[in-house]
Amino acid sequence: MPTVGVLALQGAFREHMAVLLRMGTRAVEIRQREHIDGIDALIIPGGESTTIGRLLAEWNMLAHLKERIQAGMPVYGSCAGLILLCKTIENSDQPSLGVLDIRVRRNAFGRQTDSFETKLTMPELGRTPFHAVFIRAPVITEVGPGVRVLAEFDRMAVAVRRDNVLATSFHPELTQDMRLHRYFMKKMCETGVN
Ligand code: GLN
Repeated sequence: MPTVGVLALQGAFREHMAVLLRMGTRAVEIRQREHIDGIDALIIPGGESTTIGRLLAEWNMLAHLKERIQAGMPVYGSCAGLILLCKTIENSDQPSLGVLDIRVRRNAFGRQTDSFETKLTMPELGRTPFHAVFIRAPVITEVGPGVRVLAEFDRMAVAVRRDNVLATSFHPELTQDMRLHRYFMKKMCETGVN
């Protein structure tokens, strides 16, 4: 059984841990560089991407994580996690891992719709729509070649995957629906990348 690390520097890591434990997954919190060597997959939670990025850089975890992801380690980033995975951040020069060829704009749904919930059609998860919670979410403004769009809201990509990298601009860990975590485990962690 793979061991999944949840980056626990800041943000909603406890919620991701709770989902993984509920699913019976072996999960550990990642707080320092040495922890990275013991994991087979990683989840980067929502939170404040500038803070998480700064801590990753300060504690020399950025390059090491990037190497592991580029070598094929499955990774899933939600919200701030998506920002940390992306190649280009339009409105900030904060550090990111740059492993997912998408362009994002932070906090881009605007003041009126700062936080909202909606039902998304997500064929990979089955017929039942997925209840998605958006909190000061990033907008994906460009999707590079080879990046698959798994869900859209208002004609914008809000869930994407390329090979071993999965990212959503919403927070599945804040609902009871475990299908996205299950998808990550079954399709990306347990059976290898397909
Ligand atoms: N607004 C945050 C950021 O830009 C992301 C919000 C979240 O993760 N819920 O980093």
